[in-house]
Amino acid sequence: MYEKRLDNRGFDELRPMEAETGVVPNAKGSARFRIGNTEAIAAVYGPEEVKPKHFEKFDRGIIMCKYDMLPFSVPDRAKPGFDRRDTEISQVITNALSRAIRLEEMPRSMITVRVYVTQADAGTRCASLTAASMACADAGLPMRDLVAAVAAGYIGGSVCLDLTKDEEDLHDEGATDVPIAFLPSKDEIVLLQLDGKVGHEELNEVIKMGKIGAMKIYELEKEALRRRVSNES
Ligand code: UDP
Repeated sequence: MYEKRLDNRGFDELRPMEAETGVVPNAKGSARFRIGNTEAIAAVYGPEEVKPKHFEKFDRGIIMCKYDMLPFSVPDRAKPGFDRRDTEISQVITNALSRAIRLEEMPRSMITVRVYVTQADAGTRCASLTAASMACADAGLPMRDLVAAVAAGYIGGSVCLDLTKDEEDLHDEGATDVPIAFLPSKDEIVLLQLDGKVGHEELNEVIKMGKIGAMKIYELEKEALRRRVSNES
């Protein structure tokens, strides 16, 4: 049984968070999101002409998103360059953002999103997606909603929110990690992955807890964007 969390948090408690926008002056939009010891910085460029041209779609825009975990973001120095994990995470972020951005309003154009993980302690794909969605809003792109993402999980019989790397590594307890992302106002799930084993009932509990956590992140995202607007006016 996993009865007390390694960092003494409640099972439904998120790590301390910070969110801000406009952190990369030369980008069209940008944002930083930190949750515990995981931090992501996202920058958005475009809409601009599609390159290479054969990717162009006559009736909608496209998104090119790249996730990059910086070498110094983890204790064991991450290998520079793109590996399979970076490619997979770039793809799931692209898929989720494609649901959030009204691409049909920007035909024949391209949005480029770059996300850099400066510190990693699990949950980087969720932190990256949260930062990327705030950066898209900061860029003034037409959106259906912000994306709010967090990992929930199941460890030794307990449903947990926002796992740390030490918790993910509790293999003897059968730790299961479930990254989830929502468009909260649409009640739509735009990312759901599962690493580990979990029963059907428990998975429903995990998703429910993830949703409650994501709503708190959503409020923080909106607050960061409001702060930016009020600082500009
Ligand atoms: N990690 C690492 N080195 C790597 C890849 C991952 O130390 O090359 C750590 C990092 O803390 C990351 C965690 O493992 O956050 C979990 O990685 P996973 O692939 O499950 O994705 P994430 O939870 O970050 O979305």
